[in-house]
Amino acid sequence: MKLSQLTIEEAKNGLKKKIFSCQELVKDCLNEIKKRNKEINAFITINEKAIDEAREVDKKISQGENLNELTGIPLAIKDNILVEGLRCTAGSKILENYIAPYDATVIKKLKKAGAIFIGKTNMDEFAMGSSGENSAFGLTRNPYDLNRVPGGSSSGSAAAVAANFCLGSLGSDTGGSIRQPSAFCGLVGLKPSYGAVSRYGLIALASSLDQIGPITKTVKDCQIIFEVIKGKDEMDSTSINIENKELKIEIKNLKIGIPKQYFIKGLDEEIKNKIKEILKKLEDQGAIIQEISLAMTDYALACYYIIMSSEASANLARYDGIRYSKIKNEKVKNVEELYFENRTKGFGIEVKRRIILGTYSLSAGYYEAYYLKAMKVRNLIKKDFSEAFKKVDLIITPTTPTPAFKIGEKLDPISMYLSDIFTAPVNLAGLPAISLPIGFTKSKLPIGCQIIGKYKEEDKIFELSKIIEELK
Ligand code: GLN
Repeated sequence: MKLSQLTIEEAKNGLKKKIFSCQELVKDCLNEIKKRNKEINAFITINEKAIDEAREVDKKISQGENLNELTGIPLAIKDNILVEGLRCTAGSKILENYIAPYDATVIKKLKKAGAIFIGKTNMDEFAMGSSGENSAFGLTRNPYDLNRVPGGSSSGSAAAVAANFCLGSLGSDTGGSIRQPSAFCGLVGLKPSYGAVSRYGLIALASSLDQIGPITKTVKDCQIIFEVIKGKDEMDSTSINIENKELKIEIKNLKIGIPKQYFIKGLDEEIKNKIKEILKKLEDQGAIIQEISLAMTDYALACYYIIMSSEASANLARYDGIRYSKIKNEKVKNVEELYFENRTKGFGIEVKRRIILGTYSLSAGYYEAYYLKAMKVRNLIKKDFSEAFKKVDLIITPTTPTPAFKIGEKLDPISMYLSDIFTAPVNLAGLPAISLPIGFTKSKLPIGCQIIGKYKEEDKIFELSKIIEELK
């Protein structure tokens, strides 16, 4: 077995017991990158200093220094999270030359915990997309099947872990961008409760929905990273503390809700059957499986795409392409023309589509009809979940309606947007949710299952996830 195939937990152990060195571990990951990244295209930037950092770690280990939670663990970071001194593009030409001047709070915390950053991962431009095809730096391929997408927008973060380029990664999730690629790549991905992880240093897509979270091979690894990055941060006023409740759950009499609106026509048969199998096994162990209703589900996607676009149009107004792009516009006559040209050339088609949609729904005369209405629907969606959580402890759903689709298969935006149907409602409600692998289709594509928990109850999600992980 190669070192790059280890889980974080295993690698921590190996480093501690000096079975291998950090340099060997990092070299192994870099070798995999050298071998396969050309075809997978998981990275926008490779951290050239990773191996030097590994050498430093080895020195510390040999001097008998205590190991921190992530000492010497090679991780990859989505390219919308700032790492001081490294380029940060958000997958866009408009930021092609942007070097991050400071560390995001999550990066500060990971550094303190001893992690090594192997590189910055490819992504749909400004995190808009569900396939990884919207990057200005070329599409990313699914390591399980190179003709298929890895999911998005954290496309590179998922592909990099699945291809053993690193042991874990960070993604961001506004409507499913951690969970959906995790499902497509056979990984565990957590979208924390809104506020659980600081957004300071994350390039904003939609500020009321965005959360940073881990993508890993196992539930335990996901928990290790979450524990390191979570917590209140004075640089993000929406951040909160989540106490470690060590919620030990008893599977006997655990109430699991199954929303009937999530098991509808269009849901892939193999995914449906796999979920049913899992539910049956949980029931056999004493869990109470209960059908619930999330009546507003039908409106969730429309609501999500209005709110997300509105917030995105405001957040993206700051990009002028003057300092951080490579775009050359010598013939323009004034600043307005310069902005126009830069934004025309600097943004991709999907980004422009959303800026236009967002400015439209925020404009005088349409604000009430779209944005305000969507905000009302958002409240009803929240209410749906809080009603459901009066009856059940956790909710299980498929993560995605289909397994990884083919590159180029979803050309019209609507069919692409539909792939967020099971994940976006969770962001609107601000709840925590995980996607974890539960098996494969006949054609060997990974299948993911989503567990949604009450606000701030990540611990319970982890506990049930570990039980399901064991079932396989
Ligand atoms: N696929 C969704 C979108 O395109 C989600 C994006 C995200 O979570 N960043 O908006």
